[in-house]
Amino acid sequence: KKWVYLFSEGNASMRELLGGKGANLAEMTGLGLPVPQGFTITTEACTQYYEDGREINDEIRGQINEYIGKMEEITGKKFGDSENPLLVSVRSGARASMPGMMDTILNLGLNETVVNVIAEKSGNPRWAWDCYRRFIQMYSDVVMEVGKKYFEELIDEMKAKKGVTYDVELTADDLKELASQFKAEYKEKIGSDFPDDPKEQLMGAIKAVFRSWDNPRANVYRRDNDIPYSWGTAVNVQSMAFGNMGDDCGTGVAFTRDPATGEKKLMGEFLINAQGEDVVAGVRTPMPIAKMEEEFPEAYAQFVEVCKTLENHYRDMQDMEFTVENKKLYMLQTRNGKRTAQAALKIACDLVDEGMRTEEEAVAMIDPRNLDTLLHPQFDAAALKAATPLGKGLGASPGAACGKVVFTADDAVEWAERGEKVVLVRLETSPEDITGMKSAQGILTVRGGMTSHAAVVARGMGECCVSGCGDIVMDEANKKFTLGGKEFHEGDWISIDGSTGNIYDGQILTVDAKIAGEFGRIMAWADKYRTMKVRTNADTPEDAKKARELGAEGIGLCRTEHMFFGEGRIDAFREMICAETEEEREKALAKILPYQQSDFEALYEALEGNPVTIRFLDPPLHEFVPTDEEDIKKLADAQGKTVEQIKAIIDSLHEFNPMMGHRGCRLAVTYPEIAKMQTSAVIRAAINVKKAHPEWNVVPEIMIPLVGDVKELKYVKKFVVETADAEIAAAGSDLKYEVGTMIEIPRAALTADEIAKEADFFCFGTNDLTQMTYGFSRDDAGKFLNAYYDAKIFENDPFAKLDQVGVGKLMKMAIDLGKPVNPNLHVGICGEHGGDPSSVEFCNSIGLNYVSCSPFRVPIARLAAAQAAI
Ligand code: ADP
Ligand code: MG
Ligand code: MG
Repeated sequence: KKWVYLFSEGNASMRELLGGKGANLAEMTGLGLPVPQGFTITTEACTQYYEDGREINDEIRGQINEYIGKMEEITGKKFGDSENPLLVSVRSGARASMPGMMDTILNLGLNETVVNVIAEKSGNPRWAWDCYRRFIQMYSDVVMEVGKKYFEELIDEMKAKKGVTYDVELTADDLKELASQFKAEYKEKIGSDFPDDPKEQLMGAIKAVFRSWDNPRANVYRRDNDIPYSWGTAVNVQSMAFGNMGDDCGTGVAFTRDPATGEKKLMGEFLINAQGEDVVAGVRTPMPIAKMEEEFPEAYAQFVEVCKTLENHYRDMQDMEFTVENKKLYMLQTRNGKRTAQAALKIACDLVDEGMRTEEEAVAMIDPRNLDTLLHPQFDAAALKAATPLGKGLGASPGAACGKVVFTADDAVEWAERGEKVVLVRLETSPEDITGMKSAQGILTVRGGMTSHAAVVARGMGECCVSGCGDIVMDEANKKFTLGGKEFHEGDWISIDGSTGNIYDGQILTVDAKIAGEFGRIMAWADKYRTMKVRTNADTPEDAKKARELGAEGIGLCRTEHMFFGEGRIDAFREMICAETEEEREKALAKILPYQQSDFEALYEALEGNPVTIRFLDPPLHEFVPTDEEDIKKLADAQGKTVEQIKAIIDSLHEFNPMMGHRGCRLAVTYPEIAKMQTSAVIRAAINVKKAHPEWNVVPEIMIPLVGDVKELKYVKKFVVETADAEIAAAGSDLKYEVGTMIEIPRAALTADEIAKEADFFCFGTNDLTQMTYGFSRDDAGKFLNAYYDAKIFENDPFAKLDQVGVGKLMKMAIDLGKPVNPNLHVGICGEHGGDPSSVEFCNSIGLNYVSCSPFRVPIARLAAAQAAI
């Protein structure tokens, strides 16, 4: 089996095998661009490494050695040579880009002998020793996990000793001294000498890349981004280009369009006399790419050409990494650039207008999960105008964030878990901070540019970020900082604007977002190409209106019980629950009926003739009983009972396993009068609204929850139909209505052919269906899911991302059994999964008529449905 490919043997279509980075290095090589040559070890080799118990087997090892030989031929350099030594970088590269998740090692191949050779040959000992100390540092950190900070401390000590601020001010001797300190540090921490043999170094580095596929950060990132563990990462071994040889060298990163706004202009940063991550790590502040034109006119002109070639070739915004060695340009990476949701929309529209992409392609280019940020609140324009910024950083990732200041990622997580909104303020961020960054509303950093870690990761997560606010005087140790004359402590409110980079004291009012402009264009295209409808889960007219604005075509789930918590209503509802006779219950229900009717009327009004599915009472009753003495007393008085009697009733409602207890249609079976009351409310509301708006097509859909046996449905339906028909006859109306059921108990899916005879529609309640299929509670799964992720039993939360294998099979079975029996049966989904893109795709593939999700997810579902259809 072929485990290794030269760059010249691959191309962009081999992403699965070569990883994104490797495939694109190969493609650039094919395009004739200046790429330092090398080879890629396949993702399959990574999978094999894990299968072999985290070992690189002999066959793969043999091919690696063979390809080192080929590389030596191509470059005319040799590993460990005393004439012309080969130095390489070892770079990870998965199929999907995982920024900052994997680690790169530069200058591999150096040892005491080689460093002296290159120092002498180049006449540039400073460079040689800079390379060596960097290599020891990276190798120790990445391969041996010694921890960066020890080395950084040594660098800081050296800088202090020499009285300099920047690493470029250290001399060859300083760096030589540092290299020997680093090696001593290595020996102390690891207990053996730093390896001198380049091949040993290389195998160690390759293993480290494979191993890093399974580090906790990578696992979290994959879970958040739907990347399967089974994909593995490729390893790229590439000959070095040196940006740290002096002042006619440097390293940079650039985008062909602005990743924050999408504007068509070259954007990026360049750092003279630097290597690798220096430009993004905030070691020194890099110069904007435009300035590179002044310092390196030829390399710049060449780079601009390369940008054009790449954009036209990939027909998408490119994110590139490059190095200039002695004024000569080398391309080290290109990929379709990560971008904010706003930029994604603009770029997609622009590419269509420029004739580079079709509408369908534009729709397919947008990551639906990204839209989320656009739907979140922005600062209120008036409030923003009235506020004076305390300071300004770079608007690195747009959005508005308002929260309490915290200083560490761990604090961010902890505070967020307590329900606090926080803004994470750091000198700079690193991959360890990812979870904390995710928990925060926004991120504010003192150092770093538009391509710093914080900026890139925040944009990826769609989170607001202001970076590089150098005016902040930071005191991380004491958890405080000053800006614009104000001292901030942990817990103080701060507001940051990720579009302008402005930083404000205190809280600034935010307002809801709108779908307009490019967002509107893309959504219109999505609607044009999708075949599945998108409804919303809404319990109140306000939610329904919001969802309509966001494009919902109906209500797929109205949870009637959520209406009972309003003013005055809960009392009547409690009287109903604690009724001991049918008479008592009917008396209480009579009080509830007008509330329900007016709620439903408002919903029908809000939906303007679009379908509305109303689910009858579902949750266990004890969720509604009073708990404090005052309420119990109130209820007792209203019922003419003693407090003790009420307490006894409440006790009798206790269940050991309420989610599998007296709930759903079981309530309607025991107390048909509840279902009758709800039917009257639905039908009366519909008749009234239909009267007021004869042009609307008001057809109520009554949904019976938690059915497991067709007889349950039949029994409850009888009361519903009798009541509905009587109401309609009494009103002299010609109203039509439907009665359907949730499919949320496995038995219902298994017997869907019987149930379909009695149901006008099915709606998959995949929250309960997942819970009942797996047999674990959605409220408790959080306790053990992490262990399941660690053990690789689960890669995702099955309550967030549909389990297509098991739960999905039940859904498919239900449709296949139900549709032939009842050809008019319409089928939807109303669990959390209705707004999850990969689940939406699955729903489309098994032929659902609609998905229903929470209002803010409606645009996401519209786009995902279009992508599934294209
Ligand atoms: P990441 O995936 O985290 O961006 P990379 O593999 O792209 O990691 O490496 C990070 C940086 O290291 C690159 O942007 C580049 O500056 C530097 N680098 C990698 N390989 C080489 C090389 N062969 N020559 C010079 N610099 C390199
Ligand atoms: Mg890179
Ligand atoms: Mg349910």
